[in-house]
Order: sequence, then structure tokens, then C-alpha cells
Amino acid sequence: MNDKKNIKTDKSAGADKPDKLIQKDYITIIAGPCAIESWEQFETIARVVKDCGLSYMRGGAYKPRTSPYSFQGLEYIVEIKKLYGLKMVTEVTDAETVEEVAKYVDVLQIGTRNMSNFALLKKVSKVANEMNKSVILKRGWSATIKEWLLAVEYLSLEGDTDVVLCERGIRTFEPSTRFTLDLSAVPVIKKLSRLPIIIDPSHAVGQSDLVIPMSRAAIAVGADGLIVEIHTDPEKALCDGQQALDTRQTKEMLHQVEYMAKFFGKKIR
Ligand code: PEP
Ligand code: MN
Repeated sequence: MNDKKNIKTDKSAGADKPDKLIQKDYITIIAGPCAIESWEQFETIARVVKDCGLSYMRGGAYKPRTSPYSFQGLEYIVEIKKLYGLKMVTEVTDAETVEEVAKYVDVLQIGTRNMSNFALLKKVSKVANEMNKSVILKRGWSATIKEWLLAVEYLSLEGDTDVVLCERGIRTFEPSTRFTLDLSAVPVIKKLSRLPIIIDPSHAVGQSDLVIPMSRAAIAVGADGLIVEIHTDPEKALCDGQQALDTRQTKEMLHQVEYMAKFFGKKIR
């Protein structure tokens, strides 16, 4: 990539500021359900996240099953933040609702389908800087690394946005996993930029029994964290249950990831 110099991704300065999603010497694990289904479901899973000693929880509030007008998922997010002191990550799907969602959460997630939605990226850039939010930018499943880094430029238009890249699998000819997890993206990104990068093994493989080995691999290859779908009753999950770790698997994943993290002298948070 010979236009590296033009890409303003050199943001290591301040990487250990307390409000940044990725902190030096830590592997950040974000865990939670694909979608916020009900108060009971979200609260039960929040307890698992808290018991595991994690700081960040995920949960989609704008899923097709959630009415765009009710904001119920967002209300639950506020309650869980109050009850358990967890920081919250949720996806933003259109420019009009970014500001509203940002009032409730700590981290705005941009999904694979929206990596090239430049109107959304520009709005997120503005809101993230005004409201001091971090942003997770998932890789478009057909995007090259160069296109992904150029999307970061849109997010950086309004200031020094705390952008964290997330590799979540790309589309290949291989059907035995949902997508193909491009683990080489981690060292490539580390070579081209100083942006932090996390891995989403759940959407990449699409099957819970493959999530633990790929989580381990993600840490081994140098990822700064993971975003993982978990559920206390995966069989009853309304969405993506087949890839969600149950509570026993979640603990096992954390145990193994902690072991790998130690190799790099890092702790889990
Ligand atoms: C998600 O994380 O809930 C999600 C939909 O992921 P992706 O955008 O990677 O498909
Ligand atoms: Mn999902």
C-alpha cells in the first residue's frame, strides 16, 4: 500500500487514556448476545459478563425484530449500565439515529454491511467526537484492507476518533464456516497502521464449537481483543444462537484466552 503516508491512522498517542476501548497491556473482551431480546434475557447475560470480570457488554438494539420506535433495547442498556457498571457496545445502522443511540452507550459499532456507508461514517465521526465515544469499525465482508483503512478516514474527519478495527470474516468460496476469518489481517493492520484491532470469531465461523479455537488464535496472532456472542440459553436465542457460547463455554474461552494473553504479558479486561 503506497499511500500509507496519506492515511491518518497513526493514533498510538493516548492509547492508554482511561476512556479508550483498547488499553495498553490489556486484552479487551466484549461479550453479550447478538440481540437484546427481553429484559430477562439481557439481565441474565449481563450477570454472566459481570461474574466473568469483564467490563464491556455487547447487544444489538436495532435488530429487525426490534421496533425502531420503541427504543426498548436502549432502555435496558441504561438499566444494565446502572446495575452492573458495564460499558456498552451497540451497533448503529443509520445516520438519523446515531445521536440518540450515543446517549445510551459507550461504544458505537459499525457493522460489516455498513463499512462503506459513508453518510453513516461521517455522522458517527461527528457524534463520537462530540460525545467522546469509541467506535468499532467492522470490516466489510468483501472489503480489502486498504478499503477498510480508507473507511477509517471518514471516521476521522471530525477529530481524533477512537477507532478500533474488527475483523469478522470475509466471504470466500469456503462454505464450511459462515465466513472465512482472515487472521492475517491482524499483522497486516499492525504493519500498515497503529490502529488497534479486535476479532469477532462468532460471526466469522458461525458455529459455537469453533469460536474457542479461533479466539485463541486471534490472541496468538496479536489481536487487541475479541467481541464474542454469548447467551445463557443459545437454543432459545432469537438470533445467531448457533454461534453463541453458553456460560460454560464462555468461561472456558476466557480461561484459554487468558492463558494466551499471558504470553504477551497482557491481562484480560
Ligand atoms: C453483530 O455484531 O451483531 C453483527 C451483525 O455483526 P456483523 O456486522 O459483523 O455481521
Ligand atoms: Mn449476531
